[in-house]
Amino acid sequence: MKVVSSAVGVQEISRRYRGNGLKIGLVPTMGWFHEGHLALMKEARNHADKVIVSLFVNPIQFGPSEDFDSYPHDLERDCKLAEEVGVDVLYAPNKELMYPDGFSTTVHIEGLASGLCGGDRPGHFDGVTTVVSKLFNQTLPHVAVFGEKDFQQLAVIRQLVRDLDFPIEIIGHPIVREKSGLAMSSRNSYLKKDEMTAAHSLSKGIASGRKLALEKKEVSVREIKKTVAGVILTHPECDIDYIEVVDQVTLQNCKYVTSDSMLVLAVTINKRIRLIDNSKIRNGR
Ligand code: AMP
Repeated sequence: MKVVSSAVGVQEISRRYRGNGLKIGLVPTMGWFHEGHLALMKEARNHADKVIVSLFVNPIQFGPSEDFDSYPHDLERDCKLAEEVGVDVLYAPNKELMYPDGFSTTVHIEGLASGLCGGDRPGHFDGVTTVVSKLFNQTLPHVAVFGEKDFQQLAVIRQLVRDLDFPIEIIGHPIVREKSGLAMSSRNSYLKKDEMTAAHSLSKGIASGRKLALEKKEVSVREIKKTVAGVILTHPECDIDYIEVVDQVTLQNCKYVTSDSMLVLAVTINKRIRLIDNSKIRNGR
């Protein structure tokens, strides 16, 4: 596996791959790999001859009081894991290279990026769409794989690719979970032992909302939200940032629960650890 830190370097490799008629798959990440990341890398391999993984903790998608400085980081550990699943190139630029003095462009998406996590984290999706646009231009992929765990991010990226005519196929990968149901996340490493039960309440809450929807044909959005919140709020460590039932494409709040409705939520544990999760309400995982 090649480890590359410069945009010019990775672009040169990609040009060579393209020149040899090879298809390139990109998996953008912020590192501290877990099985969720590795599943995306394996998925990329199913669609491409060469897999490039970017590892960059993107400062401009973090708010001033968020966890940029404490975000877990260990390049050696991540290189080993990526190599084990057959990644061809690990692209790990530093922030001075990504955002040199004088950098002044922002890619901003209206609508889709403004509610849910975009509402709680002002500027977050501008940071995401800006860095992903750069990563696309630097790595020149044919396909890029993103996780459904960041459901809103995936919708925003699809919009970005449509609006800016990136010739890239976007592939969504289902959420990879611990046996307990907890969605895997690099931020789970912040959880202390006694915070685990609170963290499990996100997937447990979702399961109870799905169960209610299964049992009750005419269930209302309000009832679902109340049931999910009831499970989560039995844990005093939990503050609910949002629980919403939204259309899976537009991300607009649903008036009624339909087969296209998604249950999406964000919860902060002990004011420190913000976790997200989602699921289809009526079918799917
Ligand atoms: P991150 O490093 O957290 O920015 O995530 C990099 C990519 O991995 C994003 O596309 C995430 O949606 C995806 N991802 C993170 N956790 C999971 C998970 N548990 N299951 C599936 N995809 C995930």
